[in-house]
Amino acid sequence: MITSILKKIPATILPSDTIKIAITGLSRAGKTLFITSLIDQLLHQNRLSSIRASTSPFKVTIKPPLSNIKRFDYYTLIDTLKNGHIWPDSTDEISHIVLKFESKSRFSFLGTSSFTIELIDYPGEWLLDLTLLRLNYKEWSKKSIAWLRSIDDIKAKEYLQTIDSLNNNTFDKEVQKRLYTQYKELLIHLKSQHYSQITPGRFVLPADLANDPILHFAPISKGSDKLEAIFKAKYKKYVKEVVKEIHLEHFKGFSRQVVLVDVLEALQSGYECYSDMKAGIKEMLQPYEHKNKNFFSQWLSPSIKSVLFVATKADHVTAHQHTHFSMLLNDLVNEIRHDMDISHIQTQTQLIASIKSTVTIEKEYKGEKLAFVRGILEEDSKLHDLYPGEMPSKFPSQKEWNAEMFGYQNFLPPQKTYGDNEALEHINMDKVIQKLIGDLL
Ligand code: GDP
Repeated sequence: MITSILKKIPATILPSDTIKIAITGLSRAGKTLFITSLIDQLLHQNRLSSIRASTSPFKVTIKPPLSNIKRFDYYTLIDTLKNGHIWPDSTDEISHIVLKFESKSRFSFLGTSSFTIELIDYPGEWLLDLTLLRLNYKEWSKKSIAWLRSIDDIKAKEYLQTIDSLNNNTFDKEVQKRLYTQYKELLIHLKSQHYSQITPGRFVLPADLANDPILHFAPISKGSDKLEAIFKAKYKKYVKEVVKEIHLEHFKGFSRQVVLVDVLEALQSGYECYSDMKAGIKEMLQPYEHKNKNFFSQWLSPSIKSVLFVATKADHVTAHQHTHFSMLLNDLVNEIRHDMDISHIQTQTQLIASIKSTVTIEKEYKGEKLAFVRGILEEDSKLHDLYPGEMPSKFPSQKEWNAEMFGYQNFLPPQKTYGDNEALEHINMDKVIQKLIGDLL
């Protein structure tokens, strides 16, 4: 058994009526900032006027940490944002945080009621690993190699050349390590090139397993039977001890899920990356498909009823473009619903900025009034007015796609002083709260 700080959560520690909400999305999609802002909005509520107008007053507190699972470090993250004025490092492993809600009914005879919500920060890369539960080593190798062959990338081609040149005598420890290292570096490279369908997840987000020999395997198509047997045994161990005992354990019992999507990254990375991202999201949703119900029901209770798809970083474009931005997200989710057998799952969509770092301004340019985003660019820490171009209302076809038309820049968080009870400025986080837990408030 591998050592890990992430152990099973004993059912007795949290009240049985705790609502579990998983926040998922591939790394850099904005999970860390989304959860931080969500908690901050709920604690302070000064930027939730629409919710306060329609619900009874409620108070939210953070419950103390549990000894056996990493708590989402809200306090450090919020301090970095509000006092350090920089983006905090992204979280790279599963963590959770429990919030207690107490509300006073408008009718005094009904008294107060309370409930708890557990937010789970779940890396999408680890979620993709759940697909390994259905595949043995040979099947996974075949699938991974077919995917690599479909990609136009020099490093992918190099890896394929390496495994094509394996022969019957190559199975010693050196070869194992070389293959594992080359495959791991390839996955890290493909991730940086915005590809999504990457497995095993721990090769790119290892958390506490970075140097664990449990990761020493790679997909091969030929070579010695001995090498294949060694990789097969390691793969089996990874699926049992990492995917089943850690990834799956934390996936149980969610009733709601948020999937964060970086639509802007998809637009500027090109058609191949967009298709790959869509395929990656579909893989993440596989456990919910009707046709897979029997297979996954041996581990998961069929508790998930709704998935909220959230497009992040709305502040990178002007407010005028938000309608098209939302349409792109809807376009993506409609395609996913069309391709998958998930009609029993309610899906909703929302465009947001967890932390609003820009303002929209209008300026004359060559006699025309144009909308610009004004903010401090991360690149040089200076204030700029940028014209982010026009967003399409639908994702372009492969033929029409021109990634060079889209280029979005990173802004720093607002450089301002916050009052004691002042929440982060956001776009549409109140709508997220309404859609996610409005029925409980
Ligand atoms: P994670 O890997 O999914 O946890 O992603 P993070 O939450 O750490 O976000 C990754 C990066 O995206 C951040 O460092 C920011 O540069 C950017 N980002 C995420 N959310 C926002 C947002 O609401 N506004 C802006 N301007 N940038 C954001």
